[in-house]
Amino acid sequence: MSRKTPTLLVFSGGTGTPKLLIGLKNVFDEAALSVIVNTAEDVWVSGNLVCPDIDSVLYALSGRIDEERWWGVKGDTFTTHEALKKLGYVEVLKIGDSDRATHILRSELLRAGKSLTEATRILAERLGVRAKVIPMTDDRVETFIHTTKGAMHFQEFWVLWKGEPEVLSVEFRGVDAATPSAAFQEELRRASTVLIGPSNPITSIGPILRLRGVREALKNKFVVAVSPIIGRKAVSGPAAKLMRACGYEASAFGVLKCYADFLDALIVDTRDDVVGSAREINGVKILATDTIMRDVKSCERLARFILNIIEAKD
Ligand code: GDP
Repeated sequence: MSRKTPTLLVFSGGTGTPKLLIGLKNVFDEAALSVIVNTAEDVWVSGNLVCPDIDSVLYALSGRIDEERWWGVKGDTFTTHEALKKLGYVEVLKIGDSDRATHILRSELLRAGKSLTEATRILAERLGVRAKVIPMTDDRVETFIHTTKGAMHFQEFWVLWKGEPEVLSVEFRGVDAATPSAAFQEELRRASTVLIGPSNPITSIGPILRLRGVREALKNKFVVAVSPIIGRKAVSGPAAKLMRACGYEASAFGVLKCYADFLDALIVDTRDDVVGSAREINGVKILATDTIMRDVKSCERLARFILNIIEAKD
C-alpha cells in the first residue's frame, strides 16, 4: 500500500531510524522521503570513507542491510578484511567486501572533486534508493568521546573499547565551522513537518542539531520524535550512557529534554514506566505505542502510527 502525502523530512542516525525507514518506505511514497543523515561518526578506513549512518540508511532502503547487526550488507563476505589481516594489517572495523565497494566508490567520487552530498546521491541512485538521502553537512565534523582513558574517536570508543570507558564529555570537532549541506538547507526551508527517528539523541541527532540555524528552523515546524530509550535503557547502543554523561536523564523524559525547545510530540513505548502514562509534558504531547521494530510488520505499524499523528495535526 502506498499513500500519497507531501514530503516528509526525517533526521536519522543508524539502527533505529533505518528500521523505521523500512516501514515508512512500505506505507508511504518512498520518493517523498527526505532523510538527513548524521555524518559525525564518519571515519577513513584503509583509504576509504566509511559513513556508518549514511550506509545503514542506503542499505535499509535498498533491502540490503544486515538485519542481525543493523549495519553492513546482508550475506557479505570478508575476503579483503581477512587477507589484510594475514598481511599483518588489522582494520578496526570489520568491513565486508560489498560494503567496501560502497566506500571505494564514495571515496573515488570525493577524490574526483564531488561533494559528499553528490557522492551520496550517486550511490543512492545506483543502489535503487528513491528517497533523497542527504548528508547533514559536506564539511568534516568528528565525534570525540572524552573518557577517563583519554579522548577517542566515536568509532574507537564503541568498536575498540566496546563503549566501556567512563565518559566525561562529548565533542563534535569541527561543528562550529560547519554549515548544513545546501540540500539540507533547502529541505529545512520547505518542510512543515520533521520526524526525528529513534536514534541516539547525543551522537546521532545531536550533531545535526548543532549545525548553524537548525534548532531555530525547527521551532517553526511540527516536530515529532520517537524515543530510542524505553524505561531507562536504550534498545541498543550507548545512548543511555552518553545521555547521562551529558547531563540528561537516560529516559524518554531525557530525550524530550534534548529536544525541548522545538518538540511538539514524542512517541514513547507502551512498556515505558518513566513517561509511558503521561499525556503531555512541558507542552509536548506524549503518545504511547509499541516502538520495538523486530520485523517488517512492526516497522510498518510504527510508520503508520506516526503518519496518522502527522495527518491529524493538519
Ligand atoms: P548508536 O547505536 O547509539 O550509535 O545510535 P544510532 O543513532 O545508530 O541509533 C541507535 C538508537 O536506536 C539506539 O539509541 C537504540 O535505542 C535505538 N533503537 C534501535 N532499535 C530500536 C527500536 O526498534 N525501537 C526504538 N524505539 N529504538 C530503537
